[in-house]
Amino acid sequence: MTRILQSQQKPARNAAHSAAGGEKVLRQVAKEVPLPAIRTLKIKKIMKEMSVALRSQSDGVAIAAPQLGYSLRIFVVLGKILKAEFTRRGLSEREEREKERLASTPGRDPASKDSAVKDLVFINPKITKLSREKEWVPEGCLSVRWLYGKTHRSKKATISAYDEQGKRFERGASGLLAQIFQHETEHLNGILFIDHAKEVKEELPNEQRRQK
Ligand SMILES: [Zn+2]
Repeated sequence: MTRILQSQQKPARNAAHSAAGGEKVLRQVAKEVPLPAIRTLKIKKIMKEMSVALRSQSDGVAIAAPQLGYSLRIFVVLGKILKAEFTRRGLSEREEREKERLASTPGRDPASKDSAVKDLVFINPKITKLSREKEWVPEGCLSVRWLYGKTHRSKKATISAYDEQGKRFERGASGLLAQIFQHETEHLNGILFIDHAKEVKEELPNEQRRQK
């Protein structure tokens, strides 16, 4: 999932990763990961690839395996969104400047920025509770560039999943994280936010807008 930043930044060079990932997989119901497979190298590599792809996009907050062409029930949430200063309103100006500085440092691995905060992994997730109370919230998607719209999401959600160690856990969330749970589990069922969003419009990053 993506959100509109206060100032859209230019996309990373590999912004097209999701388009190359296979449209078909995006529309399939993804397969469960067999529990003994969770700690295998194959799954570890996929989770790493997901984190790298997610962190390559300045507006990305979460990514699901089908977005990279893997029909597997896995999604990864940017660990940083749990930090208090990372609110729905967007990154602080200071953080934005820092990101730009890091992005412009030659030879710097994009995955190493924010590497201090671990991403959250959800394997075979199931939403166990959704609040009846809903709200319209702005939403975007790494696989649906550069469309943004408003979706009607439950304010609170509880999810049960397995972590990268194969341990089952349950997590409740509100606001942005609850919205992410809903957006990402939809991906695992072949649903995209544009299927049910309203006021969908294109918001090109500043860089592309200038080139037009
Ligand atoms: Zn998405």
